[in-house]
Amino acid sequence: MPGTELFGKEEKEQVMEVLETGILFRYNHDEQRKGIWKAKTFEKEFAEYHSAKYCHMVTSGTAADAVSLASVGVGAGDEVIVPPFTFIAPIEAVVNCGAVPVFAEIDETLCLSAASIEAAITPKTKAVMLVHMVGAMAQIDEIVEVCNKHNIILIEDTAQALGGSYKGKMLGTFGKVACYSFDFFKLITAGEGGAVLTNDEEVYTTAHTWSDHGHSHLGNNRGAEDHPILGTNYRISELHAAVGLAQFRKIDYILERLRSNKKVLKDYLKKFPQVVFRNVPDESGDSATVLNFFLPTQEEAKKACADLAAEGVAAAYWFNNNYHFIKNWDHLTECKVAGPVGMQFLDKPQDYKNLDLPKSYDIIGRLVSINMNITSTPEQLEAICKAFDKVLG
Ligand SMILES: *Cc1c(COP(=O)(O)O)cnc(C)c1O
Repeated sequence: MPGTELFGKEEKEQVMEVLETGILFRYNHDEQRKGIWKAKTFEKEFAEYHSAKYCHMVTSGTAADAVSLASVGVGAGDEVIVPPFTFIAPIEAVVNCGAVPVFAEIDETLCLSAASIEAAITPKTKAVMLVHMVGAMAQIDEIVEVCNKHNIILIEDTAQALGGSYKGKMLGTFGKVACYSFDFFKLITAGEGGAVLTNDEEVYTTAHTWSDHGHSHLGNNRGAEDHPILGTNYRISELHAAVGLAQFRKIDYILERLRSNKKVLKDYLKKFPQVVFRNVPDESGDSATVLNFFLPTQEEAKKACADLAAEGVAAAYWFNNNYHFIKNWDHLTECKVAGPVGMQFLDKPQDYKNLDLPKSYDIIGRLVSINMNITSTPEQLEAICKAFDKVLG
């Protein structure tokens, strides 16, 4: 559980600065806040880290997905190509904005493949929601090419690959807009929180306007300005932004530890001939939160995960996970919603119940994932290697 492993005095100090001013709201109150602007500071540092122009913080990663879709104009009548292996949030965001998800296949990168995206395009396709899954990147250059060729908007959900890069360029800067999460389980946490990142001024303007009831935020302030569009409320609080900022300032250390710990385990696994690693198009840009590998069969992968877990290793078998793989999303495949959100969704542009995704089923069925920790000691890593010997040897 990265981020949370490193909670310390830095987080407390940041939060106390906010509590001392009493201004928990991210806008206005210039005098009382005495120069303390946590959301704005976090946004500035987050954008700079990515060499991107604009960042807007919101309440969650799911909110960031929703804001991203809204800010590039996705809505009723549109189709958005999505992966069957993802935390379900971006798909919920697509449904809730009135658009419909269209599933395409993943490949051995554990992300959507360019070829499957191209095959899923219809005249209604407006965007691709590309999710960089479990720590690393999709085959991003090929995907950018397909999106450009067909004039489709690329949205990167980078919630699980913060800090990752491809050929020296940060993930989240390849598409038109990107979304991040700082929930309790992510690389850094704000308790709850999310970010929208873009180089496009218009997208940024819509993002911060829409996520605050249409306020146009002229200057630092809010109130006297225009309300160019109807919006909603996904405002982050200064308390959450303060925690997120303290955590974010630890990111270099977090990535260095995760990468170094992962290398120890990955090097060790190379001695088992049946282990095939997940395809990471640029190893040096791996955020290294998770070590992913395939075994020859579904039965072997399932058993290895159970046996490793019994040995105390943080192994996950995503194939049977309720929230990360389509096989178990009966609420989605049966179109169960609270109200008639997107009529097109209820009309099912794809037969969600009988989707043919053989490649994704094969890949996720054989996948074993080991969650990495920042604070693992050499002794703990050695114990994991011993468990590998016992389970895979
Ligand atoms: C966690 C996650 C989200 C949602 O983030 P929340 O902050 O929990 O709402 C969105 N997309 C992906 C890929 C995630 O892993």
